[in-house]
Amino acid sequence: MFNTDIFYVKLTKSAKAGLPQNRRHCIRILTGRNIELLKLLDAAYTVRRTYFGNRVTVHILNNVQNGHCPEDCHYCAQSQSSKAKIETYPMKSDAEILAEAKAAHANGAFRYCMVFAGKKPSEERIRHLTGLIRKIKSLYPLEVCVSPGVITREQARTLKQAGLDRLNHNINTSRNLYRRICTSHTYEDRLQTLKNAHAVGLPVCSGVIIGMGETAEDIIDMALALREIKAESIPVNFFIPIPGLKLKNPGALTPEYCLRVLCLFRFLNPKAEIRIAAGREIHLRDMEVLALYPANSLFLDGYLNTKGEARLKTLTMIRDAGFALAGEHDLNGLIEKESGNKKITKSQIFL
Ligand code: SF4
Repeated sequence: MFNTDIFYVKLTKSAKAGLPQNRRHCIRILTGRNIELLKLLDAAYTVRRTYFGNRVTVHILNNVQNGHCPEDCHYCAQSQSSKAKIETYPMKSDAEILAEAKAAHANGAFRYCMVFAGKKPSEERIRHLTGLIRKIKSLYPLEVCVSPGVITREQARTLKQAGLDRLNHNINTSRNLYRRICTSHTYEDRLQTLKNAHAVGLPVCSGVIIGMGETAEDIIDMALALREIKAESIPVNFFIPIPGLKLKNPGALTPEYCLRVLCLFRFLNPKAEIRIAAGREIHLRDMEVLALYPANSLFLDGYLNTKGEARLKTLTMIRDAGFALAGEHDLNGLIEKESGNKKITKSQIFL
């Protein structure tokens, strides 16, 4: 007979010891009927707390170039195969990118992520990026992440030498499903870029998109692939069905399922920074705050072509649940600033 309490204890123990999880247990986490969600979240939180305490790392993402991508990722509004109506623009000016880095720092970001459309960057773009990275790092105490597309080992080395803290390149889905969501490049192309970064000592951020028609087995494969690569950071996106995308009606997600997925990623990648990324407001709905128990990071603003939830609401959610921000920012100070410096006086509290 299945003893649920022992199950949660085993999950926590093996994750904290860095051991792989039994595949049957992984399936149970995602689909088991007798899973008790609060116990699962508590077990995941015990692992999260071991490595990250109660801190939440806030990222602000900047699409420094948008649209007209020649690739055909079926889930992406910037793809050549998409008919979604989006704002398109070439690469922003350096002045604009630097101003946005300044604003990201002022708004509480620990890490500033610059995202480019396209399969791979030219040598000229890499050179340009090195200048931008150096400038941002000299001006603000921000960690910098770049998502430039497929890069070579030499390009990874150049970016690292410029001071880049992390390279983002998502695996997006499982090897098995990849051909069904993109035909213009391969899963192997993506893995190779991550290997190129690690080969020169550049940490990687590599995420997934849940809700594209994958099975529970596919999700386990994704989490295991990122474990094998030793991804330092894993953004977990939940697919947003924007009208005009090539990928249509892949199936609904429930808040409870999204939480189970986040817990699975935590158990299989205990030391990774696990980030609640796109779709959190839509798919987690009123249960969004519970995602902070398995995940230790979130995007505050501007990801995957959709506007992030209002900053104030997100920061307040973090504080109200008893979490603190990673880095130098004072959470109460940021909330006060966002809410227009409205201070609550004693008389307001007790009247
Ligand atoms: S995910 Fe990246 S490579 Fe794929 S279509 Fe979108 S911008 Fe292009």
